[in-house]
Amino acid sequence: MTTIERIAAVVGREHCITDKAERELMSQDIFFWPDAVLAEAVVRPADTAQVAAVMKAAREAGLYVAPRGGGMSYTKGYVPERAGTIMLDLGRLNQIEEVNEQDLYIRVGAGCTWAQVREALQPRGLRTVISGPISGVVSTVGGGMAQNVPGSMDNVLGLEVVLADGRVIHTGSSGVTRTKSDFYRYYGPDLTGLFMGDTGAYGIKTKVTLRIQPIPAGAVFASFSFDTLKDMALAMAGVARLGVTNKSFGMDPLKNRTSTKVSLMEGAKTLGDVIRSGRSLTEGLRDSLRVVRAGRGVLDDVEWSLHLTIEGIDEVAAQYAAELARRVCLERGREIEPSVPIAMRARPFSIRGFLGLEGERWVPVHAMFPLSRVETAVDAVQAFFAARKDELDWHEIRYAFLSTINGPYWLIEPMFYWFDEISPLHRRHLDAQKIAKFVKAKPNPDARAVVQRIRAELRDAFFDIGAITSQIGKYYRLPEAMEPGAYQLLTEIKDLLDPDRRLNPGNLGWR
Ligand SMILES: Cc1cc2nc3c(=O)[nH]c(=O)nc-3n(C[C@H](O)[C@H](O)[C@H](O)COP(=O)(O)OP(=O)(O)OC[C@H]3O[C@@H](n4cnc5c(N)ncnc54)[C@H](O)[C@@H]3O)c2cc1C
Repeated sequence: MTTIERIAAVVGREHCITDKAERELMSQDIFFWPDAVLAEAVVRPADTAQVAAVMKAAREAGLYVAPRGGGMSYTKGYVPERAGTIMLDLGRLNQIEEVNEQDLYIRVGAGCTWAQVREALQPRGLRTVISGPISGVVSTVGGGMAQNVPGSMDNVLGLEVVLADGRVIHTGSSGVTRTKSDFYRYYGPDLTGLFMGDTGAYGIKTKVTLRIQPIPAGAVFASFSFDTLKDMALAMAGVARLGVTNKSFGMDPLKNRTSTKVSLMEGAKTLGDVIRSGRSLTEGLRDSLRVVRAGRGVLDDVEWSLHLTIEGIDEVAAQYAAELARRVCLERGREIEPSVPIAMRARPFSIRGFLGLEGERWVPVHAMFPLSRVETAVDAVQAFFAARKDELDWHEIRYAFLSTINGPYWLIEPMFYWFDEISPLHRRHLDAQKIAKFVKAKPNPDARAVVQRIRAELRDAFFDIGAITSQIGKYYRLPEAMEPGAYQLLTEIKDLLDPDRRLNPGNLGWR
């Protein structure tokens, strides 16, 4: 029996896929990686025991393993770099295992999407404290743990992890033999934290426990326009220092004119569906729909726009907090209709942004800075793009900036857009959304090569000014960023957990 046959016997023949087209699709992420190596097989285990059995079989046969969640990353994290790699698609680990309303946690299979978790909690008036990435309609909770989704990650309470040798461990209080409850994360050294942000290099997350909370009764939406990125970023920092915002989202002129249209359309559709379904007939919802519908075109003449959602235990508390935030924003900007935050609240997850409005390919780079360095970061990013404007214009490569605040730090995410062929991975999701109009786009290797180079230059420019990043994979430069002793310790832990370096070789610099 070959190893692939042995693995097929574990997961079932139909879940061990050797079809070339499927392997090609699964071996690339949202960007282009010309040096990607084709996975030997795509293996879809159903539970922890099957993951452990696959890991043992792969190890004995000297194969490599790349865990994959929703596949919505662009940092080469699960893209194989060695021949003999098994692509471990964790999408079937998608059970909601326990919603504990008394102890306020939810335990889910790592293959659950964030949207699935939201749907399980919303009817109970609950939500996870971590809001999950925008890609959460496809991306998974396990992927979010491996990537370190910025914001509130303290609210991960525990993990079930399968190690490279097939051992299964539990972290947090679920790993305390006499507690038998997932309610608390910290008991001695933080084993949960060890496995987060590893982009799958330390272990395979099979279950995740997240803190949940009641959805606050009060929410106020407010949007502002600013003349410059610096004004907007300083307002964001000022609001963040108040400690009141639940979500703060900044957009540039291009985003204002393009992707807002999609989010408003999707938000209006969701609100309309809820109203039509009769699930909620509140006047507030109808008002929201009116504001979202009226919002189309509202940002067309706005340079930089900031969108806040401010919550409180009740409406009065939310209004009070919103007033404080409003004062900060009005020092530099003016208030506009809050159509965008209402639409985003109605529809927090969408992957439509993985292509531009006209089907352009898209890829971002991000960087996080302390609030005190917002001005330095703004100057650096604007100088970077000014120096490359002619080259980008020549190749018709457009760029936009998103910026967010999920805590007391500022995240900026410049994004590149250019016309190029649509990948099989994109196509699969466009088919699911019944969007066929972009699939005929022609290859554009010249523009692609320029994006690849300039994206790497931007990553390095951010690195030089001390940016922190998540989603490291094989792309961001963790080894050089860390002090040598700390990185050495991480490497020693890698060698302890995965001495043959079988799990995601290349990630975090380990080959
Ligand atoms: C339209 C769009 C919007 C996005 N918005 C956001 C956003 O708002 N915030 C944000 O942070 N990111 C965002 N992203 C980036 C990305 O989707 C997230 O980082 C997401 O968390 C990736 O999850 P995934 O399940 O798709 O992981 P994958 O892409 O499948 O994997 C990512 C990495 O995690 C590893 N991995 C996956 N699952 C596991 C597991 N169970 N155990 C161990 N390792 C695993 C993989 O090997 C890989 O290294 C966005 C992407 C798109 C396309």
